[in-house]
Amino acid sequence: MTTLGASTWPTIASGAARILLLPLGSTEQHGPHLPLDTDTRIATACASTAADRRPDTVVAPALPYGASGEHTGFAGTISMGTEALATVLVEITRSMTPPLDRLVLVNGHGGNAAAVDDAIRRCDADGRPLHAWWPRIPGGDAHAGRTETSLMLAIASELVDLDTAARGNTTPLDELAPALRRDGVAMHSPTGVLGDPTGASADEGHQLLELLVADLTGFLDALTVPD
Ligand SMILES: [Zn+2]
Repeated sequence: MTTLGASTWPTIASGAARILLLPLGSTEQHGPHLPLDTDTRIATACASTAADRRPDTVVAPALPYGASGEHTGFAGTISMGTEALATVLVEITRSMTPPLDRLVLVNGHGGNAAAVDDAIRRCDADGRPLHAWWPRIPGGDAHAGRTETSLMLAIASELVDLDTAARGNTTPLDELAPALRRDGVAMHSPTGVLGDPTGASADEGHQLLELLVADLTGFLDALTVPD
């Protein structure tokens, strides 16, 4: 897999890559057992593994900050907010230079949704299509639960502390989301966990990663079907 950061401009200019994959993450609390950069690492793993299978793609340096206002109050959380993030994404899209002519956001953090939607609208109005792919796992839990813990055990097990992994608020996210937006996560889950990491395993994480990468490559296939 070639990364944009490790490439030179002549190798990009003469290379096969047309699609830039930009991992979009966050720096926010993920309970007592997962690191603050969990979302960034998961997005990067999806993008890198997909790029291994697609010579028409190259992976950009990850954007490690996002819109994480709902996690305010937990030590270490840093948020640039929706408005700033949307502007960053629009400016990155505007600065794309051929042969890289498609930007695909590989988004690891649900809280970035409003910024991504806004950026896509603004780029469409500019005539510069911006695309976004989201990891979706049927039955997956919301935040620092079994899904993310398994993925992190597959990606960076040395950063997972299973001794401190414990069940958090397991109310379904659809139900809980309005309260989280109103009050912040801390009021509804003192540990920051929304879900239950019990039973997480590296094996499950590898299976989940494979499902996500298959979905992402399918998304890229659909983008690149000739007219
Ligand atoms: Zn996360």
